[in-house]
Amino acid sequence: MSTITRFAPSPTGMLHIGGARTALFTILYARHTGGKALLRIDDTDRERSTEAAVQAIFEGLDWLGLKFDGEPIFQHLRLSRHVEVAEQLLASGKAYRCYATAEELEEMRKAAARRGLPPRYDGRWRDRDPSEAPEGAPFVIRLKTPRTGSTIIPDRVHSTITFANSDLDDFVLLRGDGSPTYMHSTVVDDIDMGVTHIIRGDDHMTNAARQAQIYDALGVARPVYAHIPLIHGPDGQKLSKRHGAVGIGEYRDQGFLPEAVVSYLMGLGWASGLEHPTMETAAPAFDLSHLGKSPARLDADALVSANFHFMKHAEDARLAELILPHLGRAPDDPAKALLTAAMPGLKERAKTVPHLAETAAFYLAPRPIPLEEAAHAVLTEEALTRVRAVFEALQGHADWSHDALAALVKAQAKALDVPFVKLGQPLRAALTGRTNSPGVAEVMALLGREESLGRLADALSA
Ligand code: GLU
Repeated sequence: MSTITRFAPSPTGMLHIGGARTALFTILYARHTGGKALLRIDDTDRERSTEAAVQAIFEGLDWLGLKFDGEPIFQHLRLSRHVEVAEQLLASGKAYRCYATAEELEEMRKAAARRGLPPRYDGRWRDRDPSEAPEGAPFVIRLKTPRTGSTIIPDRVHSTITFANSDLDDFVLLRGDGSPTYMHSTVVDDIDMGVTHIIRGDDHMTNAARQAQIYDALGVARPVYAHIPLIHGPDGQKLSKRHGAVGIGEYRDQGFLPEAVVSYLMGLGWASGLEHPTMETAAPAFDLSHLGKSPARLDADALVSANFHFMKHAEDARLAELILPHLGRAPDDPAKALLTAAMPGLKERAKTVPHLAETAAFYLAPRPIPLEEAAHAVLTEEALTRVRAVFEALQGHADWSHDALAALVKAQAKALDVPFVKLGQPLRAALTGRTNSPGVAEVMALLGREESLGRLADALSA
């Protein structure tokens, strides 16, 4: 039987880092086993689900390049099926109508609280005949769960988890208004979608016990469960806003590349042993049994180092396009060609997209270019006499290729009898306004003759 996994986010907010990791692991496991990964939007809660959140989830997944098989399934469109299955359970005696009133339930809650227990339904309608209910009284449908023994959930991450059935009450499948509960709709959909493996956060672990009981009542084989420990902040505490970026969109806005974020997410809970894993290298290696049992911690340094790596390997034109907006230019600005050509010299050192933009800005700066303070300090009177010598030599020089320019500057340093850096640094300062940049011959070759000479002249006349 081929594997079917699913990612089933509730569209009540953005796609956060935990959800993205679940999505990623469901896809990796499906790819690893040659199966399918499905996407379901758990939007039965019509009050809390929003169209904006659905779009945010799609956009987040799309940006990360996480592709599911087939079209997404919208849970709320399957309402009649949820009702049908609840009625089927009712007809087979595995579920029953409960007419307990809000006041009665409140009393049960209080009684449980007095004994320090979680709210629990006492099963008062479990064996009663519905004919005892007042005429037309509203009811919910509850599952007739086993009263004794235990529900055992083998889990691929946490080993086996055992729940005492006495701790699990007869929970609601269908509410008074006919709407299904999360517990019920999830199981009905997972069955209909043919889901074989449920990979999700371990905050759903108790749900697994209840959901397993629905499978049992329906006589359907339970899926394999793999509950992944949640992601914690660097301080080991549960994730919250205080920990900074937790929404996937924030990572994009901070200038991380999607493949770097994906690679970083793989490291959260999975000790892959792979150096900078990608979807291609990870899928063959991924297995549920490799996932850690304790919460992973966010690690900003690991993300930056992943980004550093993937920036270096990204295509020049793509990076040029990404930095244009940071430089105040439109994505189709003609400067893209210059930035693309300049990229090999820039991308080796950049941590993020804005950082890359910052290091590239001098190429587009209009003359006279601004000088950073340190660059200003380099341009002493003595240093400027060296710049002038090069400037003069360049004026009669036609070959503007990188190699010719490099040879010329080298020859000038020799003629001036100074170490290369004594000439290179002031030239760099004059040409870029900075104290670090790609080599001066590269910069001049890319800027072109007129612009390079203009910048040198500006420095000399300042
Ligand atoms: N919709 C649920 C959530 O977003 C997850 C459902 C499940 O994985 O069973 O928390």
